[in-house]
Amino acid sequence: MSYKINKNKHLNAYWMPFTPNRAFKEKPRLYKSAKGLYYQTTDGRQVLDAISGLWCSNLGHCHPKITEAIQKQAAKLDYSTAFNFGHEDAFQLADILVDQFPKSLGHVFFTNSGSEAVDTALKIALAYHQVNGEKSRTRLIGRVKGYHGVGFGGVSVGGMSNNRKYFGNLLSDVDHLPFPYNENENAFTRGEPEENPMHYLNELEQIIKTHGAKTIAGVIVEPVIGSAGMFVPPKGYLKKLRQITKKHGILLIFDEVITAFGRLGTANAATYFDVIPDMCTIAKGLNNGAVPMGAVVVSKQIYDCFIDGTKEGVELFHGYTYSAHPLAVASGLASQKIYKEESIYDRVKNNVKYFEDGMHNLMDSPHITDIRNIGLAGGLTIACRDNKVGARAYDLFLKAYELGIGIRANGDTIVIAPILTSSKKELDPIFDILEQALKKIK
Ligand code: PLP
Repeated sequence: MSYKINKNKHLNAYWMPFTPNRAFKEKPRLYKSAKGLYYQTTDGRQVLDAISGLWCSNLGHCHPKITEAIQKQAAKLDYSTAFNFGHEDAFQLADILVDQFPKSLGHVFFTNSGSEAVDTALKIALAYHQVNGEKSRTRLIGRVKGYHGVGFGGVSVGGMSNNRKYFGNLLSDVDHLPFPYNENENAFTRGEPEENPMHYLNELEQIIKTHGAKTIAGVIVEPVIGSAGMFVPPKGYLKKLRQITKKHGILLIFDEVITAFGRLGTANAATYFDVIPDMCTIAKGLNNGAVPMGAVVVSKQIYDCFIDGTKEGVELFHGYTYSAHPLAVASGLASQKIYKEESIYDRVKNNVKYFEDGMHNLMDSPHITDIRNIGLAGGLTIACRDNKVGARAYDLFLKAYELGIGIRANGDTIVIAPILTSSKKELDPIFDILEQALKKIK
């Protein structure tokens, strides 16, 4: 018999994603509108968005220029297929995007979400080696606690156990690198921990030895770990990872779904860490989350291999009905213009130290066992209560909402990702409310 809610029957039909439906429908949190840094709730409250939607609304909600661009586009060209047809704005957006990535990444494949971007990148990696004559390279490597969306590819290389447990064998031939953060060693580090990155990368050398480099197609990592609770790998980790993968002809994919477009005060993490991967997956801040959109930024070498390696016809049998959807593209162009004209990345840089101090000032608050930060992203670990993983962090999430900020809880962690246009003064309520909420929960 299916569970029926007693109150709020009108909420029953919608099966909400990544949400305890039963609890939500008993006591819903409903937004009715948003402007700038704030949501308005249906019960007449204002909630400060301390997680940028979900790492999406970097430029604030309902930005008038983005809204106008979408409205105009909807009246001009509402849809056009991307298969064998195009519209000029999509080509323009691709140009603008590649200009912000390292020079060797020269092409953009549009998708509609981060998950699709990840699955696309994994498929491109597998297909590239086929076209390039190294057909034995079919193995993919992700990382423990990695989050790469919810497609079968992304879940396979992802390493969050709850996301994997009901779905059988997923993709075969997948390995996982160790989680590159040790709370005992590195708790309360500001920015990148100083630990030796090889503590976490020796395993890659081992996997290469075990299976042979020629069986490995690619490695995918989040340059900064988001969904698992905002963790920063040790200094030099990504550079070392690049060296090892390059040496063995293994493609390196950065999943930049949350790091691209300003979160670290740069256009992307590849630029921030000065490491050049073969592909980057992007979404979210790409167009301020105003219309679903993702993409893979691909190296010229990979693209050229497909184009030159296919004598005629379609070079890659892959794509989405909504790839480069005109409304998504319009919001992308408008967002990219704002990032540039309003020097958003530099504005982030100016606030990083203030944000870092605000986060770390919570150190002596009750229940805190770790605080981490990089750019305008912060993570807290909350002591587990009564062996019930996530129970206390979820209470904190509820209390913070009651007190007026929207944050994200996952397991025993809390993630903070303020809207990038926030002033220092506008960041203050996040720290104040977190402090109050930590005192109030048990
Ligand atoms: N990759 C990373 C690193 C993410 O953080 C996310 C979502 O948070 C995804 C992929 C999946 O993106 P989407 O939810 O748009 O499918």
